[in-house]
Amino acid sequence: AAMREERIKKTKTVCTYCGVGCSFDVWTKDRHILKVEPNAESPANGISTCVKGKFGWDYVNSEKRLTKPLIRRDDTFHEVEWDEAISYVAKRMTEIKEKRGSDDLGFISSSKATNEESYLMQKLSRQIIGTNNVDNCSRYCQSPATKGLFRTVGHGGDSGSIDDIAKANLVLTIGSNTAESHPVLASRIKRSQKLFGQKLFVFDLRKHEMATRADRFYQPKSGSDLVWLSAVSKYILDQGLEDKNFIEEWVNEFDAYRESLEPYTMEYASELTGIPKQELIEVAEEIAKADKVSICWAMGVTQHMRGSDTSTAISNLLLLTGNYRREGCGAYPLRGHNNVQGCSDFGSMPNFFPGYEETTDDEVRARYEQAWNCTIPKEPGKDNHQMIEAIHAGNLSAMYVIGEDTGIVDANINYVTDAFEKLDLFIVQDLFLTKTAEYADVVLPAAPSLEKEGTFTNTERRIQRLYKSLDPLPGAKPDWKILQLIAQEMGGAWNYEHPSEIMAEAASLAPLFAGVSYERLEGYHSLQWPVHEDGTDEPLLFQEGFPFEDGKARFYPLEFELEYDTSEKYDLHVNNGRLLEHFHEGNMTYKVEGIARNTPNPFVEVSPELATERDIREGAEVKLISEAGEATGVVTVTDRVRGKELFIPMSANGKSAVNFLTDNRVDKDTNTPAYKEIAVRMEVMRKE
Ligand code: SF4
Repeated sequence: AAMREERIKKTKTVCTYCGVGCSFDVWTKDRHILKVEPNAESPANGISTCVKGKFGWDYVNSEKRLTKPLIRRDDTFHEVEWDEAISYVAKRMTEIKEKRGSDDLGFISSSKATNEESYLMQKLSRQIIGTNNVDNCSRYCQSPATKGLFRTVGHGGDSGSIDDIAKANLVLTIGSNTAESHPVLASRIKRSQKLFGQKLFVFDLRKHEMATRADRFYQPKSGSDLVWLSAVSKYILDQGLEDKNFIEEWVNEFDAYRESLEPYTMEYASELTGIPKQELIEVAEEIAKADKVSICWAMGVTQHMRGSDTSTAISNLLLLTGNYRREGCGAYPLRGHNNVQGCSDFGSMPNFFPGYEETTDDEVRARYEQAWNCTIPKEPGKDNHQMIEAIHAGNLSAMYVIGEDTGIVDANINYVTDAFEKLDLFIVQDLFLTKTAEYADVVLPAAPSLEKEGTFTNTERRIQRLYKSLDPLPGAKPDWKILQLIAQEMGGAWNYEHPSEIMAEAASLAPLFAGVSYERLEGYHSLQWPVHEDGTDEPLLFQEGFPFEDGKARFYPLEFELEYDTSEKYDLHVNNGRLLEHFHEGNMTYKVEGIARNTPNPFVEVSPELATERDIREGAEVKLISEAGEATGVVTVTDRVRGKELFIPMSANGKSAVNFLTDNRVDKDTNTPAYKEIAVRMEVMRKE
């Protein structure tokens, strides 16, 4: 019995499924996961979890896990030993670098990998290869939010904690299906509504669960959020309801901002958004009246051609009403992946070193060049979108992708997979033979979060440790170890024995993480960046002012042009997003049997009006056709959508529909694909 008990182990981990960053204990016996047990000490979630965190772990034992590196020869994959795979990768990357230059290679890091692994991916790219061509999947989601915050308040992260959202008098969610995408955070809002009458205003195309619970629910026309946000700001100013003291003390560029708001009358906003003028006036008055306002937003804002500008307009409105620097206030871009915040924080970005210091800053570059004994290019590298374009243009011939199913999740996947076929060297590191891996020349089997140590950073900028619950499946390796083997093979003096040493190096180089150490993150301890040398952190940002030279934030004037609309040929608009049960494209969650069984088919939500107009019923089969491609699905008739709006889930068990339909349009400031701006026409294949 003693022996048996010894095999039972309790380990603290951090959920791998969304940016809320729930932490809990996992009980295991050998490779069996016995249970997931929340712990009251968990800083983000206390004793709550959602279905994914509680039950979503069987994928670690899936028979589909890769356990041998694969190399493609004669168009088929051959299993090889690790030594051979590593030396092959090193040799081919060296050849390409020598023949065509460092910028002929591109690197995409994973927002499911740890901070330490993201740090090493950008180090491999910058130190060993000598290129800034490194990016991560925040390009697909939250880069526009980060941009909007950098423009206005100087830090690209949530202004406070989930606790602050819970303390607000008024919460606005814009383009966020919070109950399904960030379930535990949504529960906090629901509780605050009940406990102290927190008001919730939901702005979304779709009547999802939070919309039905909201005090007010508005359905602005797709892509028009910038307009109502600006009109609300203008109204507040016109009525003299702005926070004059706050602006005086803390914000620059007021006059330019006031002037830029001129065109945004309530009439104009009402016409463009479809929301009655009187309702918009009420929104403005409620915001001005509330003592503490928090605004949460997600992909419904960012994945548009004006995603960065709309994020900026949100921050402008918060500045105007003095909703920064206090508990219960602020800007909350809800990060989707568990570590999408950390992956960018730790430097897997083409323009930033770890801690958001620019590659163009000579002093910063010199610091890294000295520490790493190398030369790093000054100019920013290519982002994900530019890498795909560069492959098509013949300017990039090698790509290394970690834990990202780019061939499903990027927009316009026919165009993306055509690019993969043109690569001379394509390295994919993942748990499974994903759609993307099918195009690879080399596939390296990685280990998931339960099989390694490291840290993740959640949406609140909270850095948390995860401990190893299981040994890596024989044959698989943690990403940091694989990256180190490749760097060593290419002559890099990397000798990390444990991820703590990687974090120590990052902390010594990036001021944002100066005081981060594994000792300070023991167990359920956590730190919210910036972390100062003495170990103090900043749960609520901007207490000492905004990180600009004079300590003041800036209003950022914006212009608006409606760039997208449906047409006669493509008369419907498709929205897309997450399902509660699934994470992203579903590579992990579809390998959890119970979850897969309950959510088998890709579906298309059709409004009752449209179903009547087209004479189709529940269960009908339809084909959606956009300018880029087509996809089929089974109809669900529901009032979650209205009029000519359709909705399809982004998780589709490897049969992604949405990205056959998306095209090459992007947010003009960050190149984030405009996933939410798809016009289609619908053909009925079977009526019921
Ligand atoms: Fe928490 Fe998100 Fe994981 Fe659910 S998916 S347990 S809300 S971190």
